[in-house]
Amino acid sequence: MSRPNSTLDQVNVRELKGVGPKMADKLAGLGIHTVQDLLFHLPLRYQDRTRITPIGALQPGIDAVIEGEVRAADIAFGRRRSLVCRLQDHTGTVTLRFFHFSAAQKENLTNGVTLRCFGEARRGASGLEMYHPEYHAVDPLNPEPNEQSLTPIYPSSEGLSQQGWRKLALQALTMLQPNTLIEWLPQSFNIGDTLPISLEHALQYLHSPPIDAPVELLREGKHAYQQQLAFEELLAHNLSLLKLRNQTLKHGAPPIAKNSDLNQRFLHQLGFDFTRAQQRVAAEIDRDMSSAKPMLRLVQGDVGSGKTVVAALAALNAAASGYQVAIMAPTEILAEQHLANFTRWMTPLGLDIGWLSGKVKGKQRQQQLKAIAEHSVDIIVGTHALFQQEVVFARLGLAVIDEQHRFGVHQRLALKEKANQDIGQPHQLIMTATPIPRTLAMSAYADLDTSVIDELPPGRTPISTVVIDNNRRSQIIDRVRNACVEGRQTYWVCTLIEESDTLEAQAAEDTCEQLKLALPDIKVALIHGRMKPSEKESIMAAFKANQIDLLVATTVIEVGVDVPNASLMIIENAERLGLSQLHQLRGRVGRGPTASHCVLMYQAPLGKLGKQRLQIMRQSSDGFVIAEKDLELRGPGELLGTRQTGLMQLRIANLERDSHLLEAVNILARQMINDHPVAVNPLIQRWIADGEQYAQV
Ligand code: ADP
Ligand code: MG
Repeated sequence: MSRPNSTLDQVNVRELKGVGPKMADKLAGLGIHTVQDLLFHLPLRYQDRTRITPIGALQPGIDAVIEGEVRAADIAFGRRRSLVCRLQDHTGTVTLRFFHFSAAQKENLTNGVTLRCFGEARRGASGLEMYHPEYHAVDPLNPEPNEQSLTPIYPSSEGLSQQGWRKLALQALTMLQPNTLIEWLPQSFNIGDTLPISLEHALQYLHSPPIDAPVELLREGKHAYQQQLAFEELLAHNLSLLKLRNQTLKHGAPPIAKNSDLNQRFLHQLGFDFTRAQQRVAAEIDRDMSSAKPMLRLVQGDVGSGKTVVAALAALNAAASGYQVAIMAPTEILAEQHLANFTRWMTPLGLDIGWLSGKVKGKQRQQQLKAIAEHSVDIIVGTHALFQQEVVFARLGLAVIDEQHRFGVHQRLALKEKANQDIGQPHQLIMTATPIPRTLAMSAYADLDTSVIDELPPGRTPISTVVIDNNRRSQIIDRVRNACVEGRQTYWVCTLIEESDTLEAQAAEDTCEQLKLALPDIKVALIHGRMKPSEKESIMAAFKANQIDLLVATTVIEVGVDVPNASLMIIENAERLGLSQLHQLRGRVGRGPTASHCVLMYQAPLGKLGKQRLQIMRQSSDGFVIAEKDLELRGPGELLGTRQTGLMQLRIANLERDSHLLEAVNILARQMINDHPVAVNPLIQRWIADGEQYAQV
């Protein structure tokens, strides 16, 4: 497809009337540089200003256009000073109220002037009132035509009014002629039963929908034109990830051979055999790493499925081949646990372990950085701190990233910077315990190959789960007492709605005090995210050593903590957590030979959806089943975690609403990147504001 030289992606916004250097800067801040960018800055919703509503027919809570004569305009001195204007037509009277107003404004509202207003009527002190309506004076002898299309509302941003946006969009629309935008999707391709829709037509319609447009459908984002654009947007995101992948694969990576002798010794030392699933995934990793292209592999596996030992084997092979390995975890507590495990496993095999987290400071930090740069450590365990600029690896050959959903594409890009030019890109192994349904995974992780550990190690007893009203707290406390007396350790998890460490810690402290009072013979301890790492560590160690019976915790214990003797878990206000998160938490029990139980407490009354969700936890212990159901009930936001969805800054598409498009998007993206690569960059740049970042990698 050749590119006509007048396409709107080549026309700078400065060519529009009213766009000077200052406005251009503002627009650039929103990633809008060209007229095409402006056209793809789409309305969020629409207002219907196509008819005038008689004042007598105004309804509270509904936006409306009215026209009437000013009957009075006075300053009212109530609780707050306001300008109050009575407006009348032949059907009734309404009050316009302004809390912010100028003297000139009051002067202009003289009796007898006719105003046309737009606003939402509300019940106020004097009957129906409109607060701060948009208005202007009109000449009753020379009536103004009504709006001929629905009024678009743009994602607002400081410094540009809705009217400003509308003016710009209208100018851009006049430039939107046939062939001024390139159709990058294949002609033969269309979604659903609809005929292919031209971009020109879709954009014209969405910036300025006709009077008879189905407002409801547009509001829901389900109009065929919106769906068409949503499809293209999802495609652009998918392509950006595929491109990232291809770019990474262009770089070389050090081929790493399996070291059978050390593998034998490692497995022997573990004292158990790998499950078939672990063997399969380990072989997939070996195959990837033996290649001179970087591995890009995501390993999904339920909590406790044994991902860490599989990663350890990969780390061992890389270190034994003379490369460094970075092991990154999303939280301090999980990183600490990895540190303990890797030290225990690898030191006897002659490898040196380094440690770097945000909390490693001063002289100790300098020492660690030096050791990393000089290759006197082989395996370096840590948190995000490992990505920082000051960290220079001597020979990074493999990066293991645990709990992928908390890391983002940007961090994966940062990893590139850690490569040693002489040896090439590090292999990447990404592990997640949040099972993600296939289609969603194909979109969110389009740049990765996937392996699944779909089998738990033998000897695990299933966890039985019950759902109980918070009111029956005393019964639950009895149950905890019995369990602890029998020598079975227990977790009590406190949750809060607000994302606040402090409040959550406070709630856990209160609960801990109550439980200590109720259970005087039981050893109760508290752990939460606000504690010092050393404190957390010593509490976890004491719990592990069975010196604590009941551990009251916040959701910090979510990932990774391994105490096989703990076989009872109480989760307060379970309805507040996502199912995948509940599943993660519940995975802390059921790790030993005794039958384990999980009590999900909820605050009554619980809605139908809430009940259904907790029932799923009762019925299934399979992370994938739970994730699929959760996706069905609540959409992908929760599954992917806020960071991940935040990364996919979508303009018009919505992963929840548009999940039915994903399969086709995935297929087409793969076709296009191979068969029609010229379309890739233009599509990415059309849809992704910082698209250059992908284009340049
Ligand atoms: P994940 O990281 O997938 O949650 P881990 O690797 O931490 O799981 O394993 C959970 C527990 O199961 C650990 O105590 C680990 O030593 C043990 N484990 C892992 N694989 C096996 C296996 N094949 N047989 C028995 N125990 C295993
Ligand atoms: Mg783990």
